[in-house]
Amino acid sequence: AREIRLASRPVGYPTAADFELVEVPVPTPGDGQLLVRNLVMSVDPYMRGRMNAGESYVPPFGLGEVLDGGAVGEVVASRAPGFAAGDVVLHGAGWREYAAVDASSAVRVDPDAAPPGAYLGVLGMPGMTAYAGLLDVAGLREGDVVFVSGAAGAVGQVAGQVARLRGAKRVIGSAGSAAKVKHLVEELGFDAAFDYHDGPVADLLAAAAPEGVDVYFDNVGGEHLDAALLSFNPHGRAALCGAISNYNTPDPVGPRHLGLAVGKRLTLRGFLVRDHEHLRERFTREVGGWVADGSLRYRETVTEGIERAPEAFIGMLRGENLGKALVTL
Ligand code: NDP
Repeated sequence: AREIRLASRPVGYPTAADFELVEVPVPTPGDGQLLVRNLVMSVDPYMRGRMNAGESYVPPFGLGEVLDGGAVGEVVASRAPGFAAGDVVLHGAGWREYAAVDASSAVRVDPDAAPPGAYLGVLGMPGMTAYAGLLDVAGLREGDVVFVSGAAGAVGQVAGQVARLRGAKRVIGSAGSAAKVKHLVEELGFDAAFDYHDGPVADLLAAAAPEGVDVYFDNVGGEHLDAALLSFNPHGRAALCGAISNYNTPDPVGPRHLGLAVGKRLTLRGFLVRDHEHLRERFTREVGGWVADGSLRYRETVTEGIERAPEAFIGMLRGENLGKALVTL
């Protein structure tokens, strides 16, 4: 069986040489464990932080050790009550073909209700992040003007549509290409969108949001956050979800207009999806319902083969994905 290890700590953008594909024996599950054959795994931006030596909000990956991340796989053998061979489970031991997984950290999913990859995207962690960020963190209300950055990605595609479906007056998205911008407006129902390469983000946002912004869902940080500070209406709220524009640079760009938060009485609130489990049931019901009836659409960018997982990860950081970036094994 094959697994991918961290060969070196990336400086700036990761390269293929930072990863190593290694042949290892299929693990033997211990008591209380499942042997899982992975079917699909997630590549996520937060993993970039774990590749650095310092503490991010998750402990760093060990050099020379197998990476991990969200995955869905089929149980091959079970040594735990409540699970049987053939079950499909969501767990955290991706980046390897076979995993011995503690049953306590595996969640059975229904592969007939949704394709396995959906449990890593729209119905999984990224979808839940969008939902929690808008509802719990930003306190979305009907009639809000909402701006979502990274809008064509896994979290952003859900955030923009939840805002629309929850009665936002206007939903604006930003993304990194003309094709993504077209997709946001024509397929996902955003009212306006722009490619942030087309000029200063502050100008692009001001033009797209002539009435100002009430809620900013921030996936990007840096210049985008600065632009939102300028466009915010009084009492604007930002859900600070991520700052991907700064993940691969040793020289982060900070918002220069933070001082505006005072006079505008802004709320800028960081959050981690793991603290919002109380929303899980509502999320599954509401977003699951919208997916089922077609009112919420989503995309996935699927790369085939564990050997191509590094490529998929690097590509995701560079914006090559539309929607959720996945790797099938
Ligand atoms: P995406 O699917 O959005 O993929 C990352 C995207 O980031 C790329 O497609 C690219 O799109 C965009 N990007 C890359 N570099 C830049 C840049 N310099 N400026 C602007 N955009 C850039 O990833 P996710 O949806 O999984 O994650 C989105 C954000 O949410 C990340 O910041 C992530 O860290 C965060 N996150 C936070 C969680 C939490 O609990 N707080 C949980 C999950 C995710 P483009 O073509 O538009 O540039």
